[in-house]
Amino acid sequence: MNTVGISIAIPALDELGIVQYVFTTRQNGLGARTQGIKQADDWKRVAEAFGIAPDRLVTVNQVHGDTIRLVEQMNYRTMRSAEADAMITRERGLAIGVETADCVPILLVDPATPAVAAVHAGWKSTVEKIVQKTVAKMQAGFGSDPSRIIAAIGPAIGPECYEVDEPVMGPVRETFPFWKEVASPRTQGKWSLDLARLNRLELIQAGLPGINVYSFGLCTSCNPDLFYSFRREGRTGRMLSAVMIKA
Ligand SMILES: [Zn+2]
Repeated sequence: MNTVGISIAIPALDELGIVQYVFTTRQNGLGARTQGIKQADDWKRVAEAFGIAPDRLVTVNQVHGDTIRLVEQMNYRTMRSAEADAMITRERGLAIGVETADCVPILLVDPATPAVAAVHAGWKSTVEKIVQKTVAKMQAGFGSDPSRIIAAIGPAIGPECYEVDEPVMGPVRETFPFWKEVASPRTQGKWSLDLARLNRLELIQAGLPGINVYSFGLCTSCNPDLFYSFRREGRTGRMLSAVMIKA
């Protein structure tokens, strides 16, 4: 991935030999955007690195919900305007990607089918269990075996920088009996929430072995030289987390 100055690697995915993937950083101005506004050619360099036409790197209109789109040859050109926060595909040579700046990006690879997924998990989608639903959709649609899926959780805001209050903590407590594993109290009514770890635990509940779930543990807000951060910067660029089954 060095053609676009990208440095984040998951050896377990490299070893499969069947996928290309990327977790971009802000280095070389990648994903910078103009005034924080999405541009049609934001990820052209990534498509080039993947060896595909720019329109074959598919992103969606992310809306913090739990909609998962099945991307196919027939429909990939319509995805840019589709509202969703996750995609799955088993097409070869068609990349799917999510854009983040603090939210949790997750790539899933089922090497047996093969099939892949890209998930954008902010707190709302996390509470709606979008990553578990994505695994379930891969099972139902492709016959994927969760115990064989490999997951990579990209750079997201860390708990030390992610302070939330009751409107977030209420749903987290209601949804996750183990919520104390991912939240710790700060001042009155304020909590630190570990969204990446929460998604990791969801993946394990979905049937992935813990050793198959890779996580960077690098905070987007604490590393301004590497990452864009919405909390830190407000209007800013985005990182892309994308995956493709090789043609
Ligand atoms: Zn931080």
